[in-house]
Amino acid sequence: PDDLGRLDLDDILGTINEEVRRRFGEGEVADYIPKLAEVPKDRFGMALAMLDGRVHEVGDARERFSIQSISKVYTLTLALEAAGDALWTRVDREPSGDPYNSLIQLELEKGIPRNPFMNAGALVTADVVLSNYDDAERMLLDFMRARSGNPEVGTDDVVAKSERESGYRNVAMANFIRSYDNLHNDVQDVLDFYYQQCALRMDCVDLARSVQYLADGGRCRATGEAVTTAEGATRINSVMMIAGTYDAAGDFAYHVGLPAKSGVGGGIVAVVPRVMGLCVWSPGLDEKGNSLLGRYALHRFTRMTGLSVF
Ligand code: GLN
Repeated sequence: PDDLGRLDLDDILGTINEEVRRRFGEGEVADYIPKLAEVPKDRFGMALAMLDGRVHEVGDARERFSIQSISKVYTLTLALEAAGDALWTRVDREPSGDPYNSLIQLELEKGIPRNPFMNAGALVTADVVLSNYDDAERMLLDFMRARSGNPEVGTDDVVAKSERESGYRNVAMANFIRSYDNLHNDVQDVLDFYYQQCALRMDCVDLARSVQYLADGGRCRATGEAVTTAEGATRINSVMMIAGTYDAAGDFAYHVGLPAKSGVGGGIVAVVPRVMGLCVWSPGLDEKGNSLLGRYALHRFTRMTGLSVF
């Protein structure tokens, strides 16, 4: 951070943008959610939200996309605030080594998901949020509007419906977790809230700002609120590091070196502690379900700036 002033961040973003655009077409859009299969692949945006409020952006940083699993960062924050350490009796905080939609460890571990960022774990945090907040959907929407400073943030009901109609695997998972009494609300209500959180539509600038509290000891710059404590922010960052990109978390630590959380809409948020929140977006995914060009962009960014936590 000390020599940050010497970096020309706009120049670096420009270089990354050019490199990424040459690779357009790589990766596959998520097509298991039919509505997401319609998103064009030739898009790339990147935004940096610095702690002093400045924003650097490039490419399609103002085009909205489906945030999908990036939402799990915010529901984890809310669930931890509500339940405190007791949350960890219901969901673990270990890397999984398995895909985001895997069920395999659930039986071995008696309905306790490996971490809050796999779908199984996110269903549990969604359940905790539902139990602790009246009108959880409204509350989460307000939370995201406040964090991003953008009152226009909304939900794409078509995407939520598309997932509700095709989410057989999540239905199986939720019922399986329920069989171990690790969901306390109606299974359908948990799934509906989960699809709703995944269907939030935001752009890179919104998301870079929304994750900034994790770079700033839990403090939200837009509202001045303490969203979580400094300790809470450190912990959430650590879980992002070990599980935010699922079974590619080791590879991300190696090539990127920042706490990060991806979504199958092609977005990835990342945190440079004490420096910035950032977001990249490009819809083509790699085989692990992370944005292929987004990952490349983050790799180039940390190499060009030296801003990795390592
Ligand atoms: N809504 C998606 C699902 O449940 C989220 C997955 C993701 O973004 N990795 O499958």
